[in-house]
Amino acid sequence: MRTKIVAGNWKMNMDKAGTKALLSDLIAELPQTGALVMVAPTFVNLESAVDQLNGIRIEAVAQNMHFEDSGAYTGEISADMLRSIGIQTVILGHSERRAYFHETDELLEKKVAKALEKDMRVIFCFGEELADRKAGKHFEVVERQLSRALFNLPESAWNQIILAYEPVWAIGTGETASPEQAQEMHAFIRQRLAAAFSEATAESVSILYGGSVKPGNAKEIFSKKDVDGGLIGGAALNAADFVAIIKAFD
Ligand code: PEP
Repeated sequence: MRTKIVAGNWKMNMDKAGTKALLSDLIAELPQTGALVMVAPTFVNLESAVDQLNGIRIEAVAQNMHFEDSGAYTGEISADMLRSIGIQTVILGHSERRAYFHETDELLEKKVAKALEKDMRVIFCFGEELADRKAGKHFEVVERQLSRALFNLPESAWNQIILAYEPVWAIGTGETASPEQAQEMHAFIRQRLAAAFSEATAESVSILYGGSVKPGNAKEIFSKKDVDGGLIGGAALNAADFVAIIKAFD
């Protein structure tokens, strides 16, 4: 049985008070669930989130990190810094990092390697742009993103990796991939994993879908065989919506 996961990516939203209030609402409304629930507040509010979530079944995770241990990298955050405040999981490769901060597959390979070296779990995001899908190149693009950043890893590393397929055209646009499109891509990813590593590894990795998941569409998307949950942006900023999405597994 693969781990079911709902992870909220809060992006550059919520100041200190907002973070505290949203976490309080989530804690109050958190349903009984077998799913792993994660939230990713901004760096400045991560440590207080870890404190507030102490003893609660919600994990605070980071939205990004640098690939070096320390040094002259103004504005950056290292894996050791994250570990030192109790963070065990980091989101890497989000399409906004790729688009606005020019993160390449090669850079992401280094970030993933560092996170794994530091015993962190990685939520690795990838997905095609609209032009790729229109040109029928979505499988090719996804395979390239995965193989460049992840397929040189030792097979044993895969128990620390969660994949998040996020078609760029569906992020924050209100446009969702159909459950069938999500399932088709997730099945393809599992097949590529089986070819590059093994059937057992392919079957064990959780693959999340991200892109305008809402309370109204989560159940149908999560019901697909190869969809193990979601990475949620906009709807994660509202406790009632996020909780409704967690309940979509029921
Ligand atoms: C995201 O940014 O990872 C995301 C899926 O955003 P949204 O749910 O708002 O489309």
